[in-house]
Amino acid sequence: MEESCRESPAESGQALPLTRDSSSQTISLGPRFSKINLFSLLSLWLELFPQERPEDNNNPVGVNIIRSVGLVVVRESKVVGLHYSGHELHAGQAAIIQHAARLADCQLYFSRRPCATCLKMIINAGVSQISFWPGDPEVSMLRSGPHAPAGQISEEATLDAVATEKLKSNSRSHICLLLQPLATGMVQFVGETSRECDFMATLTDDDPGLNTEEVFYFSKRFLIEDCHQHREILNQMHLENFCVEPYFSNLRHNMRQVVKVLAAVVAGVPQQHCGFHRSASPPHHEGVSQEVARHCIIQARLLAYRTEDPKVGVGAVVWAGLNGLGRLSLVGCGYNAYPAGSQYAEYPLMDDKQEDRKRRKYRYIIHAEQNALTFRTRDINPEEAAMLFVTKCPCDECIPLIRSAGITHIYTTDHDRDRNKGDISYLRFSNLKGIQKFIVSKLICFPPFFKKISFVFAAPWISPEAEYCHLAYSGFP
Ligand SMILES: [Zn+2]
Ligand SMILES: [Zn+2]
Repeated sequence: MEESCRESPAESGQALPLTRDSSSQTISLGPRFSKINLFSLLSLWLELFPQERPEDNNNPVGVNIIRSVGLVVVRESKVVGLHYSGHELHAGQAAIIQHAARLADCQLYFSRRPCATCLKMIINAGVSQISFWPGDPEVSMLRSGPHAPAGQISEEATLDAVATEKLKSNSRSHICLLLQPLATGMVQFVGETSRECDFMATLTDDDPGLNTEEVFYFSKRFLIEDCHQHREILNQMHLENFCVEPYFSNLRHNMRQVVKVLAAVVAGVPQQHCGFHRSASPPHHEGVSQEVARHCIIQARLLAYRTEDPKVGVGAVVWAGLNGLGRLSLVGCGYNAYPAGSQYAEYPLMDDKQEDRKRRKYRYIIHAEQNALTFRTRDINPEEAAMLFVTKCPCDECIPLIRSAGITHIYTTDHDRDRNKGDISYLRFSNLKGIQKFIVSKLICFPPFFKKISFVFAAPWISPEAEYCHLAYSGFP
């Protein structure tokens, strides 16, 4: 398989080696995502960014069937853009509008091969690399309309394939597949941990484990069930090298594993019976809908699986937009890690169970929020709503940074809130003024006949501060 990027062994998605500190404490580390794994998963997930109007599955024959696309823009190994298709713009076009010529020398990771309309502009902007997930492309070859003969690729999709191939062969941008095998044991590790993480600590009592419905849904969306059809699509995209065994089976196996991991992370933040409620504080402007909040916190959960912390993975994403309305744009994202450029095991890895405080990690780890703000792609303008989604309650070290950066909303969990662990404390969050705080919690929903009203309460015994019932779900299934 074509490798999209070269990384060191630890970077390439292998489990980090077990290390033995001189104090002879063994640390057990789980596997982590490689950067390519993370970009694949983020791009697939972004494709499902909540839309006001769902994508139209019933286009008539002869009309282009454009599928939603997710896109991750990377510069110097840092994510500088997260994009998704909307009603007007394709994800590729949205990236052009936001980054313009700054896309030069960036790497773009698409959840589908982009259409010729997007591709010509992206190539023109001088990007260095374009990678895409090897499923059905943006101009769908799968759904050729309700009246089209089954299995036949539409003329539009064929024409688009010819044009994209022509653009590809004349382009200086390197165009390749977005797929890298996951580290050994990753699927099981995510399946086991997605519901046991700190973020969901108060919500883990119901149906733990991999959600098969979720796996089914994502498989339908991102995999091509029929082998012959998949081969045919790869051939149309001039990827005939991947149609030969054993490469074809490997490709399909690796795709399935990535989809399973995505399903497990998504299942870890249940859609039903839980949501974000606002802590007591004067409302400035509303936050985003529950669906968007859940989507963004799952982005943060994906980032958390790239942590360098031996014990607790934390992910953070900051999105901003005018009054929280319209298209949001990425400010920054990150996960907790040792300072950029440091070699693995150069710093202490121990937590507060290590008696010798010099051996503890706390003075060295850069927190997820700190990475998101340090490597932010733009400043926050004072008129906009800037929303931080973070999988762990922000600590006292981060609170002043969050406030000074201009964050207006925080979506998080209250696990560890008001606790002082010596090396790290979480005492300032509760008294943080001027920032809207939304805490994930269980919700009680009313019996089915109330569905039309469909309002939900935050459970007061879980968060005594709950003063407000968020009215965002349009109805529980
Ligand atoms: Zn397009
Ligand atoms: Zn912190």
